[in-house]
Amino acid sequence: MDKAWIKEPTKSQAYKVGVESFMKYASITAVQGTIPCPCLKCCNLKRWACEVVHGHILVHGFLPGYTTWTFHGEEVSSQYDTPYMKKMQSKTQPKNKLNFKVAGAKFIGMLNSISYFSLCG
Ligand SMILES: [Zn+2]
Repeated sequence: MDKAWIKEPTKSQAYKVGVESFMKYASITAVQGTIPCPCLKCCNLKRWACEVVHGHILVHGFLPGYTTWTFHGEEVSSQYDTPYMKKMQSKTQPKNKLNFKVAGAKFIGMLNSISYFSLCG
């Protein structure tokens, strides 16, 4: 998916069209009608109804580094290839790593816990 729009000005047409595509993508993973808000103020830490998130992204802007939408159903595998994630992994203790994975799975519902625990075994 093309996410170049994330870096476009919030008032540009490309940005608005991109937000629409994000909303379509993210709404699939909505839980009780709410999704984590990837605007600059909420940083995926708060959940709102899709319409509210839509408004936030248009007004506050989209998190510039959030190009792999792991909180909204996108696979995490590509994220681990980035230097940032490698740095995080090398610094993170196993316990925290588990928490991170569990937190991610809670949101995306895609973690295969059996394969994860067998890797740890
Ligand atoms: Zn927000």
